[in-house]
Amino acid sequence: MKRLKNKRMLLALAAVLFLVVVLAGIGKLPYVDRLKCVGCGACERVCPVDTIELIDGKARIGEACISCNSCVKTCPYNAIKSPN
Ligand code: SF4
Ligand code: SF4
Repeated sequence: MKRLKNKRMLLALAAVLFLVVVLAGIGKLPYVDRLKCVGCGACERVCPVDTIELIDGKARIGEACISCNSCVKTCPYNAIKSPN
């Protein structure tokens, strides 16, 4: 019984931490410099939430972004900027 309670508390804590991370990222999404983007797709492949699309040969970041900055670090053309 006590073990189950601890497990529930850990799950609740994990959920709260996840929400804090997501909420902290709202309004701080990276953005694509369309002049620099060559549409190589490297950012699309690295995004953990699959929210980058290539549209007309340019990357576009979707609303599901969690601001992990993986795409910013990955872009070989320095075409994605972090707002921070
Ligand atoms: S990695 Fe950079 S150059 Fe390649 S598609 Fe993404 S933003 Fe464009
Ligand atoms: S910051 Fe992370 S979640 Fe947001 S678009 Fe880039 S790789 Fe995807």
